[in-house]
Amino acid sequence: MNTERVDVAIIGGGLVGASLAVALAPLKLRVMLIESQSPPASQPSWDERCIALNAASQRIVEGLGLWPALSADAEPITSTHISERGRFGVARFTAEEAGLPALGYNVPLRAIGATFASPLLGIEGLQLLAPARLQRLQLGDSEAVLSITGADGEREVRASLVVAADGARSTVRELLGIGAESRDYRQSAIVTAVRPKRAHAGVAYERFLPTGPIALLPKPDDEFGHACSLVWTLPSDLHREVLALDEASFIERAQDAFGERLGVFRSLGKRMAYPLERVMSERLTAPRVLLVGNAAQSLHPVAAQGFNLGLRDVATLAETLAETLAESNGDPGSPELLALYQSRRERDRARVADFTDGLVRLFSNAVPGLRGLRHLGLLMLDLTPPLRQAVLDQNLGYGSAAPKLARRRG
Ligand SMILES: Cc1cc2nc3c(=O)[nH]c(=O)nc-3n(C[C@H](O)[C@H](O)[C@H](O)COP(=O)(O)OP(=O)(O)OC[C@H]3O[C@@H](n4cnc5c(N)ncnc54)[C@H](O)[C@@H]3O)c2cc1C
Repeated sequence: MNTERVDVAIIGGGLVGASLAVALAPLKLRVMLIESQSPPASQPSWDERCIALNAASQRIVEGLGLWPALSADAEPITSTHISERGRFGVARFTAEEAGLPALGYNVPLRAIGATFASPLLGIEGLQLLAPARLQRLQLGDSEAVLSITGADGEREVRASLVVAADGARSTVRELLGIGAESRDYRQSAIVTAVRPKRAHAGVAYERFLPTGPIALLPKPDDEFGHACSLVWTLPSDLHREVLALDEASFIERAQDAFGERLGVFRSLGKRMAYPLERVMSERLTAPRVLLVGNAAQSLHPVAAQGFNLGLRDVATLAETLAETLAESNGDPGSPELLALYQSRRERDRARVADFTDGLVRLFSNAVPGLRGLRHLGLLMLDLTPPLRQAVLDQNLGYGSAAPKLARRRG
């Protein structure tokens, strides 16, 4: 059997694996990106969704040199409006108070996928294997041995570092027996696009209902009028019924859930549904292995943080490698690097995961006391400056020590 030697093997060429391949390019390492779907840009995670990139992520994408290509498809979010049905409390955040041109950008996932995929073929030292699948993994002191099957049969690859970017059902985690705490929220998100009568004016709306949140995020206007992407979380049993509605009935239900803030909804895009669960890997590293993106933590989309967190994993890993390669004789999988990566990611990851899960629990609970707490929470968010700043920083991606690539200018 053929044996190849690489410095870094990235398992999974979804958004996070592809962005890592781009981020590692300046380090001139021998990198292999292994993706089970082909071509990577058509793999299932690059679907009809839009992703809200926060300010830190925008800076990371800019630092990777990809923002000029992506910006044409990115609709700025200049304020957020968070409310609860049947209550007056509203929390608003603005780009102006953050001192930024935008709090974030709503971008079609396909545009992100295409932007991240386009430079891959031109990166010196990067080998792209797709379709190819990791089947077995053995760990040694100085390297990991991977068995990979692809169109041309099975091959053995020896790597100093294996990065698991293989999603919530990570093969790497499974092969290594790394446990994960998982929670089925018994909810699904229906994702589509709507055309409201009034322009969104850069506002991202999220409205909490007893059945789950409904969010409307800005999309660019086009010749057919105004547009927003809609993410509607519903209990799993109810989501099937709502998904099966004809277009007019669906619009009516969505309108009832969201209200009239943007006027009547006129038409609808393709609808897709995603079952929602939280999967938190028990560890971020094993000898010669580390986890990034959804393989490390897969979150409920209520706070739109999953990919943003994954991009910070990527930026931190690239930064840590750049700092430590010289000291570790060019070994990208040294125990020191793994320990440093883990220590740099733990806090941010835990905070965002806890914040997201707390939000889901707080707003999906019908206990009367909690209704009052929610109301108080929204009011405090609107009125209490230190709390506002903490939540704002977290949502911008600056809640914990941010990787250098993500730091604000000035
Ligand atoms: C409805 C919804 C809305 C969302 N909105 C937002 C948002 O607004 N903002 C945000 O930041 N995040 C958002 N997210 C989260 C975001 O989509 C994910 O965090 C992100 O896509 C994860 O990317 P990933 O590359 O880590 O994993 P994945 O996209 O799952 O990619 C994993 C890849 O690994 C490959 N793979 C798996 N096993 C193997 C193997 N054995 N060998 C080779 N390849 C393998 C798979 O084919 C796949 O391509 C949302 C999620 C949902 C469900």
